[in-house]
Amino acid sequence: MLIEKKIGNTPLTRCPFLSDKFRTNIYIKDESFNPGKSSKDRAAYFMLEDAIKGNKVSPGGTIVEASSGNTGISIALMARELGCRVKIFVSKTCSAEKRALLEEYGASIEICDNSFGLHVFNSTQYQAQAYAANNENAYFTNQYYNSANIKAHYRTTGPELWEQTNQRISHVMVGVGTGGSISGIGRYLKEQNSAIRIIGVEPINSVYQAYLVDGALAHSGLVHDAIEGIGRTFIPGTFDAQVVDTIYQVDEERTKQCAQDHRADTNRLIGFSSAAVLAALEQNIDELKLSSEDHLVLYFPDHGDRYLQKLYNQTEREDSETFETS
Ligand code: PMP
Repeated sequence: MLIEKKIGNTPLTRCPFLSDKFRTNIYIKDESFNPGKSSKDRAAYFMLEDAIKGNKVSPGGTIVEASSGNTGISIALMARELGCRVKIFVSKTCSAEKRALLEEYGASIEICDNSFGLHVFNSTQYQAQAYAANNENAYFTNQYYNSANIKAHYRTTGPELWEQTNQRISHVMVGVGTGGSISGIGRYLKEQNSAIRIIGVEPINSVYQAYLVDGALAHSGLVHDAIEGIGRTFIPGTFDAQVVDTIYQVDEERTKQCAQDHRADTNRLIGFSSAAVLAALEQNIDELKLSSEDHLVLYFPDHGDRYLQKLYNQTEREDSETFETS
């Protein structure tokens, strides 16, 4: 696929504001520089490459996925090149901006109540799987159980972080949705240096923290997709607890405040799950005990322009103004 050449190799930049504030070296890995403007281009590309090799998708067929929006956007972007149709099941919490982009890229959208997994009838995952099972020539990429999702980050993001920090990376903080990003990054970095701390971030009431601490498959109290893209009610096949050291939990309102504060401080609009990672850093700064020798990377999967209404209080504008005539 032509698009392959443009995926990845996103910039890693030292953030002077955060580095000064926390008296250490803090870098931002900005995944909004991918062609589909999010980290999910990586997973989508690897999943589609596998599907093509396995003859699971062909021109005229339909690619189906359950997505908080970004994976859907990435698939839709690539499907055009493959001559495939795309059907994306999103939960009703998906931002208006992401839905508009999905439509713009030609995906057909189904809106579901939640994204609580393959066993919950009104979830995106259940509905996506059912659609693919009942429609000929439809293929469900199934990012929550597709090992190509982890492989994408093991082969690309992990090595990039290692090289871009000149092998000095000491910590990385990553939001956990499917777990593909943290598992692939963590697996690669631990192989280079097992002392690197791999830290996940999720909303309060998501299941990963309890699972990591005592293997508990506790029923989560998550009542909605609080922070788009991260947090789950089930442990997917794409989460590798072996390579994750800690999971921090953050509050939705605190995360929104963090996005707005960061905008005021740096004039940058960051995405919802990026703000969660920043909120987790602020909240746990004492426990992290960072020194001037440390090099901590914050993984920012997408840009704030996908959440103007939700995070930055931009309300929809009227298309035209009405003028009074005399
Ligand atoms: N943040 C955003 C904005 C996302 O779209 C996703 C993907 N759902 C994530 C974080 C989590 O990434 P992963 O699925 O690799 O855990």
